[in-house]
Amino acid sequence: MTARRRRPMLLLRRVAKTYGAGEVAVHALRGVDLVVEEGDFVAVMGASGSGKSTLMNVIGCLDVPSSGRYLLEGIDVSQLDDFELAWIRNRRIGFVFQSFNLIPRTTALRNVELPLIYARVPRHERRMLAEQALGAVGLGDRMHHGPSELSGGQQQRVAIARAIVTQPAIVLADEPTGNLDTKSGHEVMQIFSRLNAEGRTIVMITHEAEITAYAKRVVHLVDGRVDSDRRATPLAAPPPQLAAVDTEAATA
Ligand code: ADP
Ligand code: MG
Repeated sequence: MTARRRRPMLLLRRVAKTYGAGEVAVHALRGVDLVVEEGDFVAVMGASGSGKSTLMNVIGCLDVPSSGRYLLEGIDVSQLDDFELAWIRNRRIGFVFQSFNLIPRTTALRNVELPLIYARVPRHERRMLAEQALGAVGLGDRMHHGPSELSGGQQQRVAIARAIVTQPAIVLADEPTGNLDTKSGHEVMQIFSRLNAEGRTIVMITHEAEITAYAKRVVHLVDGRVDSDRRATPLAAPPPQLAAVDTEAATA
């Protein structure tokens, strides 16, 4: 056996996170072990309060564990200063939130360019990369529209374009379909599927079973611990009753 193991994209060992202290301490994470390899598509499920968002914040370097080890692309992020952490959040992680978090009074294009402005990418390159990312989510013809002129599903697709425009190591999504109707939710999931098929690593939080169906792996959190972790055969296409939604997202 030729054992040349790749370095995992994410490695968490006994990660714990406690908010507060003493009698009011909340143990949001109680020793999470998780390894995610490049190219995986993980759905993190669990009841409200089970620690899903806390886990996402740790993985996304928005918060630090109280104890345990977290390595992102082999780097122990607990050793980094604020400047280095900001760089990692900007360049190596793409965030997608339930509420889209777009800047309201500006175009889709400008929203997607924003992480590249922070990254000091020159104007021409920035524009080209943002156009490519919007094309990849099927919004090549909506670039000059503002969020208020776009549907919820389209706004979330802009947010996905913004998340991938920096070519991050991993895309993190917290309840990305939580504010969408069923049809738009499946359109958004087909985009995640396609990005994953192109090699992008995705960790997505959800509590909806039909959304989980698009993932290759399902991790269940119960009370801040991994309760189960299993491989699944991902759904690449939407369920038959929603098959008609496929064309728009897939062909644009
Ligand atoms: P989920 O996303 O699965 O609903 P969270 O990770 O948001 O769960 O929360 C896990 C637990 O940690 C909950 O009991 C929640 O109230 C608590 N919690 C989350 N964030 C904070 C915080 N900033 N301060 C205190 N408690 C928190
Ligand atoms: Mg949450």
